[in-house]
Amino acid sequence: MNRFDHDAPMLAEPGDSLADAWRRRDLDVLWHPCTQMREHPHVLPLIPIARGEREWLVGMDGRRYLDAVSSWWTCIHGHAEPRIAEAIATQARTLEHVILAGCSHAPAIELAERLLAIAPREAGRAPLAKVFYADNGSAGVEVALKMAFHWHRNAGDMRRTRFVALGNGYHGETLGALAVGDIPLYRRVYAPLLTEALFAPSPDRFLAMPGESPEQCAHRAADALAALLDAHEGEVCALILEPLVQCAGGMRMHHPAYLKRVRALCDAHGVFLIADEIAVGFGRTGTMFACEQAGIAPDLLCLSKGLTGGAMPLAAVLATQILYDGFLDDSRERAFLHSHSYTGNPLACAAALASLRIFESDDVIARNRATAGAMARHAAPFHDDQRVRDVRQMGMILAIELAPAAGRRGLPAYRAAIAHGVLLRPLGDVLYWLPPYCIGDDALAQLADVTRLAIDAAFQEDVCA
Ligand SMILES: *Cc1c(COP(=O)(O)O)cnc(C)c1O
Repeated sequence: MNRFDHDAPMLAEPGDSLADAWRRRDLDVLWHPCTQMREHPHVLPLIPIARGEREWLVGMDGRRYLDAVSSWWTCIHGHAEPRIAEAIATQARTLEHVILAGCSHAPAIELAERLLAIAPREAGRAPLAKVFYADNGSAGVEVALKMAFHWHRNAGDMRRTRFVALGNGYHGETLGALAVGDIPLYRRVYAPLLTEALFAPSPDRFLAMPGESPEQCAHRAADALAALLDAHEGEVCALILEPLVQCAGGMRMHHPAYLKRVRALCDAHGVFLIADEIAVGFGRTGTMFACEQAGIAPDLLCLSKGLTGGAMPLAAVLATQILYDGFLDDSRERAFLHSHSYTGNPLACAAALASLRIFESDDVIARNRATAGAMARHAAPFHDDQRVRDVRQMGMILAIELAPAAGRRGLPAYRAAIAHGVLLRPLGDVLYWLPPYCIGDDALAQLADVTRLAIDAAFQEDVCA
């Protein structure tokens, strides 16, 4: 109990529920992310959450909600995981934070050792060798972009100033990350502020031409990338992509052959490859890291979201020795001076270490194979649903793409799911399951039932409109 528990009922008007009182207090003072605030609370429900437990969230009104999106893809082991909570509490009593310039601490060192030990490897390529910390995914992307750019300058090459990114890609919301993103909804307004990236076509297998296999589609996209790199020879410092699944772009998936081609093209053109595994890292696609499925290792690897099991904000950028060595010099200006106040926060590093221990003790990757199979079984009926254009899956991500409509299909689907106790958060016309790895079979059955109801709702409102 804290003092707020006592405040709330006093604010409630006669007949008001506790949840309503919190809702009103929220709207008085909070500005929510990724939300047209005008839609709260009448068009878009606002759900005050009291606590979390495994794959469940419990509202202030006592209702339970299945967190089908792992709270923005972060909460991989479930909510309020006791082992992670314990690690944070222990660390908080020991060392809550310390400046990471000039000082160091055990959790930052141990986590870096662990991450480098499990990072993707490629035969014949020097492994990722150094870890740079930031405190959120977008900041991690900024770090990787700045490192790649700065390395070439330090090497005396002033011409390599451009980034290559993929159509339909997403790398975060800060200006540097938005510049290499291609989701119009987030990008368009800020376009005048953004540096101009070069965009290569997405290898998205959903965009395959009639009769084309996902692998052929991947090769077609790689051929286009090859032409782009030829046309801009000597101008590009790095290429950034989301390996295997473009998540924010609608859970669009591609064949690993694309990543193999990209790796070879980057090498041939002297371009650093930045793998943004912020969403797909830590077991989400079936392997610990998505790059493993293509047998490639990047020059820079961005990690965040699932890194701490969703308990603390943290990002890590893993870099090769070659990148690191390019900054060693007598001059401070040649150093990588980028920093954030909370760089390598000990609580966050302790949470990440606890999360990695769970991967081992619970054999999470193996368990996920069974859970992913169960997800496929529960989603099987959607393949025959006339209203569904595509059902696709990569490990613990399953997406159901609805037939497009003039209006927003996602909103009625979202509302219907909430009404039935499931937190689904569609991306446009794409409903997706990206659940905590601990989700049970009963919960998956409920998820499938409610997804059907959500689709019903999406199409009903269409008829009314
Ligand atoms: C979420 C995401 C980011 C940005 O991370 P934030 O912590 O939200 O800033 C970057 N890249 C990818 C692929 C993401 O999914």
